[in-house]
Amino acid sequence: MVSENLLRREVKGVIKEVFADRDDICTCDRCYNDVLAISLTKLKPRYAGSEKGKVVLKSVDISSDQTRLDILRVVHEAIDRVNENPHHPEDRK
Ligand SMILES: [Zn+2]
Repeated sequence: MVSENLLRREVKGVIKEVFADRDDICTCDRCYNDVLAISLTKLKPRYAGSEKGKVVLKSVDISSDQTRLDILRVVHEAIDRVNENPHHPEDRK
């Protein structure tokens, strides 16, 4: 199974890549942390197959293409969710 720490590191990297890529979303620390929290909640390798709605990471190789795609998809979903409903009142940049 993928270790939680390794997964967290990978997810952080993916979020930073996507944040750098998109200028239509808020990339403040608050939103970053929200996106990270949502992504990690959805990606639960330890509970593979047991919880409905979770994305199950089957590969032990965190850098496999399929794992990267799964993480990327979840991160994009999390970003959309946070930006539709940001936890702060400031205007988006
Ligand atoms: Zn923000």
